[in-house]
Amino acid sequence: MDLGLKGKVALVAAASKGLGRALAEELAAEGATLVLCARTDETLQQTCAAIRSATGAQVLGVAADVAKPADVARVVQAALAQFGQIDILVTNAGGPPAGTFEQHDAAAWDAATRLLLTSVVELTRAVLPGMKARGWGRILNITSISVKQPIGNLLLSNSLRAAVTGMARTLANEVAADGITVNNILPGYTRTERVEHLAGAAAARENISPEQATERWTNEIPMRRLGEPREFAALAAFLCSERASYITGTSTAVDGGWLRGLY
Ligand code: NAP
Repeated sequence: MDLGLKGKVALVAAASKGLGRALAEELAAEGATLVLCARTDETLQQTCAAIRSATGAQVLGVAADVAKPADVARVVQAALAQFGQIDILVTNAGGPPAGTFEQHDAAAWDAATRLLLTSVVELTRAVLPGMKARGWGRILNITSISVKQPIGNLLLSNSLRAAVTGMARTLANEVAADGITVNNILPGYTRTERVEHLAGAAAARENISPEQATERWTNEIPMRRLGEPREFAALAAFLCSERASYITGTSTAVDGGWLRGLY
């Protein structure tokens, strides 16, 4: 299947590692031009160089913290200066700290809101006018299975990703007639540094080993294994593509069967 991504410009946020990087690799392999960001410039530039050399794609890396609106504006300006337009936006960020309600003070809520919700709002605000003017656009938010089934001890993530989901579902209808789709993709437990970090946090909290924490998760997954980033990236790239032209307002999981609900 030709995904129709050749010549499209994709801005993938938080993409030097993990899920964002896997999606960036897939989009580049399909012929898209990339703008990637992450906070640590050295890792980001290494990732950009690796994707360039593996695919021949044009890849611009701009060090930025998506929790800071001024950084978001800088990434978008750099993308437009280099490539003239942004056709595809993938919003993403690092995960917020784990914890329960009573473990998070007002400052933690504020920081998590900037990271998970304001970043999506600002990135979307910056790309939408160009997409509308061209009558084509794809916005894909990386959220989590927790939007359909909240996960214990991830109170901030559960709460703020639900807000992103509500925004995306509403925006999808507002821009559907402009040729712009807005979807969310919900990773399940996928083998990245974030999951290793969460396993370490669970181990410290419960006085078990990280391996035991990971094993408990895999026992909840009907496929009895963690996902691989490239398995996530396959659906994500499709949702960013020309071929996904009649899919909007959706929240779709890539989770090995973890979610037990009917929808
Ligand atoms: P990861 O492997 O830790 O990678 C995170 C990436 O985001 C890195 O490139 C990191 O680079 C960048 N990043 C982090 N904070 C950033 C910020 N404020 N601004 C810009 N870039 C930032 O994590 P992942 O597993 O790919 O997870 C991505 C998202 O999916 C997270 O929100 C996570 O909670 C969510 N998620 C993951 C899973 C899973 O199983 N992996 C499941 C559900 C949801 P720098 O550190 O250099 O900035």
